[in-house]
Amino acid sequence: MDRLLLLILAQLLTTGACDKNPDPEHKEKHKGDMLDHWTYKDQNWNESYVLCDKNSQSPINIDTGKTIFNKNLPPITLEGYNLPETEQLALSNNGHTVVLSLPDSMTISHGFTQKYLASQLHFHWGSETTPGSEHQVDDIQYAAEMHIVHFAAKYGSLNDAAQKTDGLAVLGVLFQVGEENKHYDHIFDKLEDIAEKDAAVQIPGFDINTLLPRQLYRFFRYNGSLTTPPCFQTVTWTVFNETVRISQAQLKKLEVSLKTGHGTLDSNFRHIQPLKKRTVFASFSSLTSSRRIIPKEDSGESSELNKSVDGDNFTLGDTMALIFGVLFGCTALAFVIYVIKQRKRQRSSTERGQKVIYKPAATMEA
Ligand SMILES: [Zn+2]
Repeated sequence: MDRLLLLILAQLLTTGACDKNPDPEHKEKHKGDMLDHWTYKDQNWNESYVLCDKNSQSPINIDTGKTIFNKNLPPITLEGYNLPETEQLALSNNGHTVVLSLPDSMTISHGFTQKYLASQLHFHWGSETTPGSEHQVDDIQYAAEMHIVHFAAKYGSLNDAAQKTDGLAVLGVLFQVGEENKHYDHIFDKLEDIAEKDAAVQIPGFDINTLLPRQLYRFFRYNGSLTTPPCFQTVTWTVFNETVRISQAQLKKLEVSLKTGHGTLDSNFRHIQPLKKRTVFASFSSLTSSRRIIPKEDSGESSELNKSVDGDNFTLGDTMALIFGVLFGCTALAFVIYVIKQRKRQRSSTERGQKVIYKPAATMEA
């Protein structure tokens, strides 16, 4: 989202939107910083960017007990994510995060009612002592978070799509500390080369799929915003349920390698924003309200945040059907037993030559 910021803020500059400090010397001194004068330390961004205070802001805390299961949310299908080594990708430090530029041949081909093209991915992290994901799940902040930014193909560019209601689709991946994840070394090993703000290097293409969790069909979906100024409320968010694991050493590289121009680039996450009247949908259902973290069996690269009781589509309707089915079965069985007993009694009475008087059972026998 930060490349977009440069473009948008360049426009704001011409309207004097950055003229917050009247001291001309100060202005001159920080001329180079004007494009990104906002910081994570002071997040009262709405003073300069009015949208940042509106009703559909991101990130949010995802309260899984309040999410609505939507069986009509199709799984995310990605195409072109396996990039050849010959494709050179720019990796840069823009002072707010590390950004890997992505070719628009990478697409979300299914998952929405329209096609989205990739633009870039970037990260949010904390410090050596604090976690730094932007989204939280059941009030848990995860170690870090990756955002893969896409724009609607019909708008032609990220810049043109950024202010359209359905303009952007961002995939969010939450990180946990665990086993080392070599796939991320394509990026993390280069961080020391872009320590300084505005530094950039080229890295060979690789399979971007390897950065993602395996279960792309389990996710949370809601309408939100850019998590950086100017906070356009044009993002359809997809936050995957499954986390990705990286090692403590890998996480530390994120936390200590980069500089902002004023100091270490760390804790670059926006605070949680109020949900207000929005609904968060889930592509899967779960009978448990608590999120359990379980290791994956075979890879150790990721883990599942929320384990469904049985299968992926175990809905409330299915549960009710099961309960009523069991109740009906018990009743039918009791009735059959009752009928058999009655017949036996009738037969023995007849054999003794007594007249049978039918009396309905007051209670069910079983
Ligand atoms: Zn982001």
